[in-house]
Amino acid sequence: MSEQLTNEQLVRIAQEFGTPVYIYNADKIEKQYQRLRAAFEGGRVKIFYAAKALTNLSVLRFIHKLGANVDCSSINEVKLALQAGFDPSRVLYTSNGIHFAEIEEALLLGVFVNIDSLYNLQKLGEKYGNRYPVGVRLRPNIMAGGNLKISTGHDRSKFGIPVEQLGQLQDIIRKYGIRIQNLHIHTGSDIKDADIFIKGIDVLFDIIPHFPDLRSIDLGGGFKVAYKDGDPVINIEELSQKVLAAFDAHEAARGLEIWFEPGKFMVSECGYLITSVNLLKETAATTFVSINSGFNHLIRPMFYDAYHRIENLSNPGGAVAPYSVVGNICETDTFAWDRPLPEVREGDLLVFYNAGAYGYEMASTFNSRFRPAEVIVRNGKAQLIRKRDTMEDLIRNQVVVDL
Ligand SMILES: *Cc1c(COP(=O)(O)O)cnc(C)c1O
Repeated sequence: MSEQLTNEQLVRIAQEFGTPVYIYNADKIEKQYQRLRAAFEGGRVKIFYAAKALTNLSVLRFIHKLGANVDCSSINEVKLALQAGFDPSRVLYTSNGIHFAEIEEALLLGVFVNIDSLYNLQKLGEKYGNRYPVGVRLRPNIMAGGNLKISTGHDRSKFGIPVEQLGQLQDIIRKYGIRIQNLHIHTGSDIKDADIFIKGIDVLFDIIPHFPDLRSIDLGGGFKVAYKDGDPVINIEELSQKVLAAFDAHEAARGLEIWFEPGKFMVSECGYLITSVNLLKETAATTFVSINSGFNHLIRPMFYDAYHRIENLSNPGGAVAPYSVVGNICETDTFAWDRPLPEVREGDLLVFYNAGAYGYEMASTFNSRFRPAEVIVRNGKAQLIRKRDTMEDLIRNQVVVDL
């Protein structure tokens, strides 16, 4: 098993499958899952892979094979997970802002649902009484995460039932006898500090006694990984120690399972996006490198100001100079400004690291460009797991009318 694909491997795959191409190293996904398992050994902690980070069926099948559970954020993700082989008992649907019909659909498929509004909980009670045990997503009013766009637990966030509405929540539960078996919080992404989870736990612990049917506490995902050298990351072992100690110290929490929903932690570092250089443009301000990609393929730099490490696979020993790496779509799509890179030439292959999570998954066909192909590598063997789009894909659902 190798955690990192070599430059030679990446170049070979780019030559075989063309660019732009997303490449995922399955060995690294396994490694990350094993790290979680090792940190949280003892059987009390359940890991639900947050599928929205990367939903390719082959990836889901692999994660199923590793023994993980899966957390979904739409009914379609639920269906993909079932298609990938997950038993419904291992699928969690943490819903947000969805119509009640989707909750019903998930329950009928046998999937456990975290409900995130009093509105839908009321509907559940009216229609099904106490037939389906469910979880509730709470909003703990904690600020956490890399930036506001990925913070979900603060007091102006749309996510979850605000903890201050506990009274109303209890009224609904009592009225219909609804069995609440899981309390969920997910405060954001890119959390580097284990203490944020402890803060969330403290909010939950105080209210556990109000939920007699409780079986688990679900602390969500958001574990930060390194995007560049020296980035602070979450220390899983420290997180495990602190969380388990907090649960042990709290009488009411002792018998409960602990659930986590890591997305980025599982699949960020396994991923590479390889692009080719179309042209260079010298200007007074900077030297632009235009690649055959854009935010239509990797939106994180433009959307979240995210940093992605870039290397020149074709000329690693070249003289280093600053380049501004941009895409080829008709919209500003800067990947990096004045980034030091070994000399870049037309045709060079540039690789973006940490491209596994929220990379392909957030890609679009903006500018009517094709989404990249996806390739997975297992034990050194590369296989295509999604073809690049074609003109047919762009046209498929269109209905052409004469006006
Ligand atoms: C997005 C999301 C996750 C995963 O977040 P990461 O930052 O990728 O770990 C987990 N749980 C819920 C409910 C989410 O919405």
